[in-house]
Amino acid sequence: MAEDGEISIKEAYRDYKPPVDAATIVRQLLTSVPDQHLRGLDCIVLTNLSGQPRRHRLGKITSRGRKVALSRTRGLYHPRWQGQPPWIELYLDHIFRSYPRWALRIPLIRNLAIAEVLYHELGHHVHLFIRPEYREKEDVADEWKKRFTTILIRRRYWYLIPLIRALKMFRRK
Ligand SMILES: [Zn+2]
Repeated sequence: MAEDGEISIKEAYRDYKPPVDAATIVRQLLTSVPDQHLRGLDCIVLTNLSGQPRRHRLGKITSRGRKVALSRTRGLYHPRWQGQPPWIELYLDHIFRSYPRWALRIPLIRNLAIAEVLYHELGHHVHLFIRPEYREKEDVADEWKKRFTTILIRRRYWYLIPLIRALKMFRRK
């Protein structure tokens, strides 16, 4: 937890090389998140699920009251525990699993692929650490994700807003 609010980004891959410069993208994505929503967050660890010990890979976590196989998750929020500050873990191999390589050459696509998971996990941080509310935790995290994504698009991809609106219009028909 750096004094200047700088969150450290750590890369810990095992037999894996991410197809994009994920640390730089995460750093950029954090700049459009208001500081008060990052307060208390210690670090973001970029890793690959395939490099985790088998016991860990086959573990289960709870989501919306159901057990979900860890092998299906793309990120995890680790709440404050025994005096240790909260942190976020992103599994890049799972985040990029469904994207072909050519798609990841497009900055908007690769940035949003990471943003989708990072902002959801940050949503858990805001919910549990900064602004608690008694509601379903996955719904709350998804709402924060939408808010952070809207800020990102307004700041960095404002010129695409007419295109995004047009696409939504077509979808409604
Ligand atoms: Zn979640």
